[in-house]
Amino acid sequence: MADPKPANPEWAAQRRLEDLFAKIAEKYGDLTGRFEVKYRPDTTFDQIGGLKAAKATLRGFATALTAPEVYRQWGITPPKGVLLYGPPGTGKSLLARALASVSEATFYHLKLLNLTSKFGPTAGDLLQEILAIAVQEPRTLIFLDEADALSLEHLLPPPQAREASARLIAVLAEKLDGIEDFSRVFVVAATSRTDAIDPSLVAPGRLDRLIEVPLPDPQGQQEIFLLNKAQAEKAAARRLFAELDFRSLLPPMGGMSGAEIQEVIRRALETKAHRAGAGEQAGLVSTQDLLQEIDGYRRIKEVVEKIRYGQYL
Ligand code: ADP
Repeated sequence: MADPKPANPEWAAQRRLEDLFAKIAEKYGDLTGRFEVKYRPDTTFDQIGGLKAAKATLRGFATALTAPEVYRQWGITPPKGVLLYGPPGTGKSLLARALASVSEATFYHLKLLNLTSKFGPTAGDLLQEILAIAVQEPRTLIFLDEADALSLEHLLPPPQAREASARLIAVLAEKLDGIEDFSRVFVVAATSRTDAIDPSLVAPGRLDRLIEVPLPDPQGQQEIFLLNKAQAEKAAARRLFAELDFRSLLPPMGGMSGAEIQEVIRRALETKAHRAGAGEQAGLVSTQDLLQEIDGYRRIKEVVEKIRYGQYL
């Protein structure tokens, strides 16, 4: 009997990639949370609030994946990659995904902090194996997330870290240099710590284009807020928020990243869910509810920072 479902090429490609990586996992152990691969992710640039300049610049690099021959027509070779730098939670991963999405590329997400934490200096062997597979795809975007972790400062005392990191970077640089021109492979690295990035990674011919991904200004914050609100309302298939007064909301949100704004919204919705769960009339999320959540979030953040910097230890 014929298969009743038509073959889905996207599903088949994703399955093929998962099989390949199941083989790598047999050798290196479970890589969940350290490495992911997605055939054409569905994040779009429209889902990213603020970041006008970063979005416009990065979008231009889609040409390196979709039509590298255009560079030849202008007498140059396509760039190998870029470094996105800026505070945590500002949308660097979203940008990398959106670039893979518009370029219809397979997205290789290497979470370098988690990878090096597990494998230490030997992470280089695994990186080499992954990159060797990645470059065989028709269009590949390799995302080196938390690229500062290649410094191995989180694992080893400074002199050993410097030595082991130099070896690891050399392995990676060799692979980057080995990527053929016009091969439809593009590398995006991201960091919130430019001070810990090895200069050889951003040397000419490697990731030599730098793009700043700053904290959002008030207009960017409002855009991010509205995007996250729309996403929650779409998921719930109903209205969840009352009319909001952004003139009151934006000043106390000053300095918050997109990830923090998302978290405040999540907490406001969580409070409502708890009320509804207890059989109370929860009502729509109001400006007042959000102001309370912002205040609570700021206080908790202070405690977390004190714990992190050892003041409560
Ligand atoms: P980074 O890689 O810079 O640490 P992410 O891209 O992982 O940050 O962002 C984490 C989450 O925060 C995203 O999944 C998204 O929900 C939210 N976010 C951060 N920045 C933005 C933005 N500019 N627009 C929309 N959402 C954002």
